[in-house]
Amino acid sequence: MNCSECRDLHLILERSNARFLEARSAQFFRISTRIAVRKHIDLLRAVNDLQEHQADCPWAIAALHIGGRVTHESRQQ
Ligand SMILES: [Zn+2]
Repeated sequence: MNCSECRDLHLILERSNARFLEARSAQFFRISTRIAVRKHIDLLRAVNDLQEHQADCPWAIAALHIGGRVTHESRQQ
C-alpha cells in the first residue's frame, strides 16, 4: 500500500475492530452494552472513513484496477 493515509486508516480500522470484538465478548458485554455499542459505532466510523478516503484516493483506485480487490472488504469475507 503506497498511500500513508490508506495505511493509517487501515490501522485505525483494525484497532477499532479489535476493540469491538473485545467489547462484544461475553464478560464485557454483560458489564456494559453501552460501551459495546459505542465500540461498534467507532468501528463503523472507521470503515466509513476508509471507504470515503479510498473513493478518492488514486492509490486505492489504481490498486482496485490492477488487482481487482478491495483491501479491507475482501479480508472481512
Ligand atoms: Zn489512500
